[in-house]
This record gives sequence, structure tokens and C-alpha cells, in this order.
Amino acid sequence: MYMYVYATRKTSRSVDCRWQRGGNASNTCTVLSQLGSSCEFFGTLSAEEHLSFLQNDMQNYNIDYSHCPMIKNIGCPTSIVILSLRSGSRTILHHNPNLPELTLKNFEQLHLEDYSWIHFEGRNLTEVLSMMQCVENYNNMLNYSQDTNSKETKSSRAPITISVELERPRQELLDLLPYADVAFISKDFAQSRGYDNMSETLKNISEDAKSGATLICAWGDRGAMARTPDNIIVQSPAFPPQKVVDTLGAGDTFNAAVMHFLNKAKLEFIKRGKLKSCEMNSALQKDVEIKRNIKMNYNIESLECSHTEFITQNVLEAAVSFACQVAGAKVGLKGYNKLD
Ligand code: ADP
Repeated sequence: MYMYVYATRKTSRSVDCRWQRGGNASNTCTVLSQLGSSCEFFGTLSAEEHLSFLQNDMQNYNIDYSHCPMIKNIGCPTSIVILSLRSGSRTILHHNPNLPELTLKNFEQLHLEDYSWIHFEGRNLTEVLSMMQCVENYNNMLNYSQDTNSKETKSSRAPITISVELERPRQELLDLLPYADVAFISKDFAQSRGYDNMSETLKNISEDAKSGATLICAWGDRGAMARTPDNIIVQSPAFPPQKVVDTLGAGDTFNAAVMHFLNKAKLEFIKRGKLKSCEMNSALQKDVEIKRNIKMNYNIESLECSHTEFITQNVLEAAVSFACQVAGAKVGLKGYNKLD
């Protein structure tokens, strides 16, 4: 939960104040849903005050939360966000009354065959690591059953794409990298490692990533850069709005837009196998508002779908450009209300 206060100067009254659902995964779900991807939020929810606000809001955005464990007698984590009207900068006071994090046991309740992509937040490391391993085992089993049973349909049995965000400046998050097909590296994390630009970050982080992983690094008004599974670097500038109003959740928005784009590319890849660029263009652009500069030219020959085979240079370049446009639009808005 966020409480937003809009302030002009230190001693002045705030000009506005509102409540907003928050948290990285929850924000990412909001944007995914607005872009037209069906998605589920999976995290612990406090059964105390604010629960109905959170549930109503998720229902409004069509976000599934049906598997979330409800925790009694512990309050919901809250943040007070002070936004500067002049610069759009934010000051955040966070309070967490120790709401427990998800466990592997919670995760094992899910039916993995229902998911095409699972994004993890790098939080409670040991548990998240086990969850990622659990998905990896599922994917390995799938490959095995595809080998031994040729009747298995690829569309319903494609491997789950595993992504993770290394967001907070905690070095131990690097342990999650070997399990990620797609990794988002935040500017804060990169700077905590002593890197001061995106190419330095991608070059160094790739040493810890699994082979064939896609790495993506966003950097505020410098836009974003990414590395394909084949080690090709692609880049997009930022798309600043006329006025920067609210940068909170820019990274979550960026991640959601990349995932929306790449997951659509994956599903189209599985469905059609061999793609023509015009078919892909219309399939991807049909349900999104922001279409400027999205150029695609798919040269996909194979019918097989491995974890990252669908992420070609052109696909990734278009995904990163799209995400910078969506995130640029978001920083021009209070919250997310007019993204859809
Ligand atoms: P966060 O601060 O939430 O971690 P980032 O700095 O990673 O967010 O920014 C994510 C993306 O949001 C950037 O790649 C960029 O496209 C967009 N963005 C963020 N800040 C701005 C800004 N001031 N102007 C334009 N785009 C921005």
C-alpha cells in the first residue's frame, strides 16, 4: 500500500493525497493487465486493514490473486511517498510490520502448467531460489516428455520462461542469476556493484548469468540496454513525457512492458512457428496504444521453442523500445490510471 503526498515545498501543505496499491510485483501486474496480458499476482496478503481495498483494486485491473496466502494478525506493509511537484522526485518512508514472505510450500500449490512466464522478485533469497529450481525441474521434465512422447503438443507444453529482477543493492541476489532466462538488472543494483553505465553492467553481469540468458538494464532517463542470448547488444533511448510527474514504479512498468512484449512474441512463435513480419506486427500491436517506432522483422525458422529461442535481436530491440515508451508515458502520469 502506498500513501501519496504531493508537496511543493518543505513547509507547505501538500496539494493532494491518495492511497495506491503498490509493491514491485503488484505494480508490474497492473501494467501487464493494462497492456492486455492475463496475469496473476502471487504474494502474501495481510488479512487486516486495507485487504478489501487491495482486493477491489486488483479486481478492477483484472489481476488474479486467488492463490495468495492470507495472513491474519499482521498488518499490511505501507509506504508514505512524498512526491515533489517541481521535479517528480520521490522520498519514500517504508514500514513493514514483518508480514511473512512466500515460501516454497506456498509455491508448490500452483499448477505450473497454467503459466507461460513466471517473474520472480529477488527478495527472500533461499525460498526464491528453491522456487526457481522448482520451475527449472518442471521445464526439464517437459523436455524429457517431449523427447519420449512425440504426441505432446508444444503449444500447451512450452517451457515456462523464468525471469528475475535484481533490484535492491544486495550482492547475494547474484545467486539467482543462473536460474533466470531473462534477468532485469536495476540501476541501483548496478551502482552498488560499482558500475556506472548500462554496457559496463551488462558486460560484468553476464559472467554470472546462465548461458543463453537475456539481460536487460534500464537506467532512468538514459533509457535501456539489453543483451540477447547470442550476446548482441541492443539499446533504446528514453521517451520522456512533456513533464515528469511520478517516477515511482517506472522500473516495474518497464519490466511489465518487456514481459508483455516478449511473452507475446513467445506465444506467437509457438502458435505460428514460421512468422512473417507483418503478421507479427499486427498481432503485437493490436492491443497496445503506444506504437511509435516499433519495428519488427522476424526471421524465425524453427518450430521448436526453447527457453529463449524466440528472443532474437530484432524482437529484443523492439521489446526494449516499446518498454521505454510505456515507462516514459507512465512517468508523465500520477499512478497508472491513463496507461490503458
Ligand atoms: P526505477 O527508478 O523505478 O528503477 P528506472 O530508472 O529503471 O526505474 O527506469 C525504467 C525506465 O523508465 C527507463 O528505462 C526509462 O525508459 C523510463 N524512465 C524512468 N525515468 C524516466 C525519465 N525521467 N524520463 C523518461 N523516461 C524515464
